[in-house]
Formats: sequence, structure tokens, C-alpha cells
Amino acid sequence: TANLLSVRDLKVSYRVGNGHIDAVDGASFDVPRGSIVGLVGESGCGKTTVARALTRVIADNARITGGQILFDGKDIAAIPERQMNALRWRDIAFIPQSAMNSLDPVYTVEYQLNEVLRRRGGLSAREARMRCESLFEMVGIEKGRLRDYPHQFSGGMRQRVAIALALALNPKLVIADEPVTALDVIVQRQILDQLRELQTMLGISVILVTHDISVVAYICDRTVVMYAGRVAEAGPMAGVLTRPAHPYTMGLRNAFPDLAGAASGTLTPIDGAPPNLAEPPPGCRFAPRCPFSIEVCSTESPPLAEIVPDHRVACHRASEAPVLREIAARTET
Ligand code: ATP
Repeated sequence: TANLLSVRDLKVSYRVGNGHIDAVDGASFDVPRGSIVGLVGESGCGKTTVARALTRVIADNARITGGQILFDGKDIAAIPERQMNALRWRDIAFIPQSAMNSLDPVYTVEYQLNEVLRRRGGLSAREARMRCESLFEMVGIEKGRLRDYPHQFSGGMRQRVAIALALALNPKLVIADEPVTALDVIVQRQILDQLRELQTMLGISVILVTHDISVVAYICDRTVVMYAGRVAEAGPMAGVLTRPAHPYTMGLRNAFPDLAGAASGTLTPIDGAPPNLAEPPPGCRFAPRCPFSIEVCSTESPPLAEIVPDHRVACHRASEAPVLREIAARTET
């Protein structure tokens, strides 16, 4: 199929005290081969939980309680841990949220690359040395710096090292959690450009997790907008950004500056805060914050439906999106 990954109705729950938090409550989306997909939403919407569930490296109190994760046609939510472990690094590589700071300070980066190449990849010492050099070349760092320790690199360079580490065993899918968040805008652009270049060169797929829609706009082919554990809207970048159909996406678009540097008018954060996931509101979870909510919104949860080919939205008023967009644009400033 055209999709390397298809997530269907994924549910992930955290046990807390006597109760549970349904952090991901029925997420569905696709990652086509050779594409960069941005998973975007406010803090706490479940992005990291989704990203981690895809590699099944989840917290001790977390459990995948439903759905499928079809990777290359195989449901990796259902395979034994041993098989899953064999897929990590080789097929699916994960760059954790603070990859930049999570490199081990006591070892040189070459040592850390070697761990993956030799232990997980079974490369010989000589092969690993050559691979280290070519990986550094790929991410634009002089090979002389392989012997350096993480603290000797700048934040941006450490992020490049983390990318090299993820690419070590030629995965088909790289999942990067907030890869540029702590960096200044110029370095952000450099890292994103690099990621795009490598993605194209290697023909891999990338899932980029971020709270910043301008990062998504800058680099992604497609986007999945999450809100309170569910997918609000998903589709090709151009469609979702220029014709957002979910009121949340309309608001998100106005809440971030343009990464390309163009001033995009006044930034208007969305009023209110996301719901407490331990007690989510009935109906559409965005309804309490939505300027366009009507009666049905607070009683029935809207299904994620295709409004135009390949563009899906979970909103009871999706068919009125063009009008709502205009109203949203007028009330912006
Ligand atoms: P952020 O960008 O802040 O990491 P996120 O969108 O990635 O946010 P998650 O980290 O996936 O969101 O969290 C989703 C929800 O699950 C939040 O309500 C969070 O408080 C909760 N959560 C995350 N990890 C745990 C955990 N180990 N135990 C209990 N609840 C958790």
C-alpha cells in the first residue's frame, strides 16, 4: 500500500490511583511512504503518548487498550515484545523529546553510535567506524568530532547527533518528538532543512511531533491535528493550513508566528484550556472552547469524516467550514 503506517482507533490509557486517564482515545491517521507527517497540538493532547505507543516504549502505568498500528501491513500493537524489539532502530527509530540532552554525558558520541551499530545492528568494529563517519557526513558534522562528548556540542549539533543516531540502522520510519523546540529559529530552520534533505535522500517517512504549527507548516507534507486525545483534523498540509475545517485548527493557525520570518498579523492564542482528560466533557471535547459550538456539540462526539478526498475532520459543523473560516478570520485582530 501507499501507507507505511496506518493507525486505526488507537487507545492508550494511563493508570493513576484508582482511575485512569484515556490520554489517546481513538486516534486514526496514515503515514504515506516517503512523507513527513506532523503530529501537532497543545501540551497534554496526547502527541507524545501516540508517538511512544507506535514504538511501544511507553510508561510503566500506560497500556494500549485498543486499536491497530499497521506498520508495513503488520499490526505491531499485537506482536510479541521480542518481535517489536527487533523492529526498533532497524525499522522504526525514535528520537525522544529531550534527545538533545539525553545523550549520555559520560561517553563520546562515537561510543554511543557504536552501541547501536554494533550491539543492535551487528556491525563489525571496522564497519561501525565507517558507518559513524558516513552518518556524521550525512548530518553535516566533521568526522573529527566523533570523539567529542555531548557537552562539547551546541544544542543544534546535539540534535544532529540525535538524528544520526536515529538513522544509524537505516530505519523506514523516524519519529521525532519536538526535535527543534529548545532551539532558536535560525537553528530550527537548519535542522528542519537537514531533516527534509535526509528524508528525501533516504526515501524514509518521518513523524514529527510538535506543539508548533509553524514547524509543521515549514516542513511537513501532511498533518494530524490532535485535541484532547483525539484527532481533530488530518490531511495534506496545503488543505489543512489554507482551508482548515476544524475550529481548533483555525485557532492554532493564528497562534504561532511564521517560521519563514514573515509577520502573519497579530497572534491570538485560543481562549481557555484543554479539558482534564480524567473527566473529559461529553460530546466534542473542543466544544467548551469552541466559538462555533451548537447544541449537538456538547452531547455527541463528532466522527472523523472525510470532507474532501484525503482531508478528514471531526466537527459537527464541518460542512459550514468555509463560512466559519471567514468569521474566524474577521474576529482575529
Ligand atoms: P507535551 O507536549 O506536554 O508532552 P503531549 O501532547 O505530548 O504533551 P502527552 O505527554 O502524550 O501529551 O500526555 C497526554 C496526557 O496523558 C496528559 O494529560 C498527561 O498528563 C497524561 N500523561 C502522560 N504521561 C503520563 C503518565 N506516565 N501517567 C499519567 N498520565 C500521564
